[in-house]
Amino acid sequence: MAKGRQKHQARLDAITFWGKDLARRAKRKCELCEESGELRPFDGDEKAEPSLETLVLACVRCRSILEGGSADERTLRFLETAIWNEQAMIAKLAKSMTSKVDADWARSAMEMVGE
Ligand SMILES: [Zn+2]
Repeated sequence: MAKGRQKHQARLDAITFWGKDLARRAKRKCELCEESGELRPFDGDEKAEPSLETLVLACVRCRSILEGGSADERTLRFLETAIWNEQAMIAKLAKSMTSKVDADWARSAMEMVGE
């Protein structure tokens, strides 16, 4: 097995290790939009060791937006709440999603949060 692949697998194992604690914190809902459904940990900081500080439990749609996909801005108003989340990584990811939304509500939300 190639070294890079082994490293990747070790990372996936480390993320899986936190799965239960993450699900408990998230109360089995997406930590960004609060929808239930198919939830998986999103790796918020690929340079750090995976931990509850760097992982966010997210639904398919939020993960696809975080990976660069687009969505109808009218379905993203949950971000106005998520940017104030007490978990720093959730707030950070929500801000990065909000900053890509081309809408007045998104611009004023970013202003309110001081970004
Ligand atoms: Zn979501």
